[in-house]
Amino acid sequence: MVEVKIDNSLHGKEFLEMAFDRCIKCSTCKFGFKNFEPSCPSGEKFLFESYWASGRIRIIRGLINGDLEWTDDLKDAIFACPTCGACMDSCQAPQADFLVDIIEALREMAVKHIGPGPNQENLITRTKDVFNPYGEQNSDNSDLKEKYGLPDQAEWVYFIGCTSNYRQKNLRDSTLNFLKKVGIDFTLVDEHCCTSPLIRTGQINDVKDFMNYNVEQIKKAGATKVITSCAGCYRTLIKDFEKFGVDYDFEVYHTAELVKQLLDEKKIKIKSSYDKTVTYHDPCHLGRHMGVYEIPREVYKQIPGINLVEMRRNRNHAWCCGAGGGVKIGYPEWAVDISKERLEEAKETGASIVSSTCPFCRTNLSDANDKFKMGFEVLDLIEILDQMTIEVKQEE
Ligand code: SF4
Ligand code: SF4
Repeated sequence: MVEVKIDNSLHGKEFLEMAFDRCIKCSTCKFGFKNFEPSCPSGEKFLFESYWASGRIRIIRGLINGDLEWTDDLKDAIFACPTCGACMDSCQAPQADFLVDIIEALREMAVKHIGPGPNQENLITRTKDVFNPYGEQNSDNSDLKEKYGLPDQAEWVYFIGCTSNYRQKNLRDSTLNFLKKVGIDFTLVDEHCCTSPLIRTGQINDVKDFMNYNVEQIKKAGATKVITSCAGCYRTLIKDFEKFGVDYDFEVYHTAELVKQLLDEKKIKIKSSYDKTVTYHDPCHLGRHMGVYEIPREVYKQIPGINLVEMRRNRNHAWCCGAGGGVKIGYPEWAVDISKERLEEAKETGASIVSSTCPFCRTNLSDANDKFKMGFEVLDLIEILDQMTIEVKQEE
């Protein structure tokens, strides 16, 4: 559970005006701050001012001033950005923390004037239809509840998230196995999309309904804590629910945080050895968006035998996997190219395993690994932990 800075007085238009007033066009957002490495996948791909944060702010100024008109020509500049937040980390001006909010506010406006980004309307139509952006028949998770012998009411709810539930089932099952193994009192609910894909692509009309629905389900389960293995759900549940004025009184944890806590409190001990070289990819939604960099690393380091090595760009400087912000559905070829660059960086470390803490990163890194035959094993932290023998201290 992290503390985050949210300015609830700001919404949509205010974000746009903030960008208008405060960007000094210094171009610091084009590179990692003080390391000068390329950091913005969008700018690096298109090599045109409009594709960096600074240029997007220029577009906003033009639209507000009336110098620019809404046309389809603006679409790529507005939507071809994985909202990775590297610009937030680099920018030193007062609006830095809100650059992604500013880009999302621009997208909200774009959706109204010129429609959603490429293929991104599928996200909302599918979610309205079957409650997940993949268009899969909704699972109310009752089968999983039965399989794992889970109660109707519990202290914790495991919020699986659509990517784990419909695309990365091994990650989901590893999380379920882990929670069972370590004796967490948890259950599942008939969850609907957390709304991350809708918010990132500016399609916000229905998000509050989805948020309220999920809060109701969690309340009905009597839970005081929610755990998720998805960096996107984590950011959305903590930051976006508050931004959209949806209150709840449970705590939200990423799996890595719970594992770290159990290790620190000596409630679990990892007994077997994982004699492999692993490099950790920081998910943007866990790292730059939420400031969680060290907790996953501290968990990896407590796995006996593991050799954890860092990529050149790590933590706040990490190169995005390329899947977020609607890029995976809108620009699928480019999305895997972004991951390919990440895997090339991983090659330099000598690691055989690329590991992350987000099902969306796992999907895109795996797609690039397969497409470009990079030869890695791509695994989530929880999938590694699922392979380990874990001693659980019995309560006295
Ligand atoms: S967004 Fe920030 S870093 Fe980029 S040009 Fe504007 S002030 Fe400079
Ligand atoms: S969010 Fe990432 S891709 Fe988008 S402008 Fe900022 S640095 Fe570039």
